[in-house]
Amino acid sequence: MATKYSSKINKIRTFALSLVFIGFIVMYVGIFFRESMLLMTLFMLLGLLCIIGSTVVYFWIGMLSTKAVQVVCPECKKYTKVLGRVDMCMYCREPLTLDPSLEGKEFNEKYNRKKKES
Ligand SMILES: [Zn+2]
Repeated sequence: MATKYSSKINKIRTFALSLVFIGFIVMYVGIFFRESMLLMTLFMLLGLLCIIGSTVVYFWIGMLSTKAVQVVCPECKKYTKVLGRVDMCMYCREPLTLDPSLEGKEFNEKYNRKKKES
């Protein structure tokens, strides 16, 4: 849990975006196998699958966003979404928790980060 330094929604979004790029790269690689119709089709299908996969992931983010709890970040006063028990602010990466029993741990992490900054 302590190694997660980015908001979960942002992480999934980055993953979906990279999946689109991977899809395009795979399709592009397919062009180099023009001589073999089978290989080219295979690469094209793989690339298409990656892009479809990213669409699915984007859809999943949409579903998760509706489930996430919207809170006002105590640090930057912006509206952010908390996914699960512990998450981070999408704007300032402030650790946020909905579980009071985890509060102590998160505050420790916050102190470490603040010491580094100053
Ligand atoms: Zn914030």
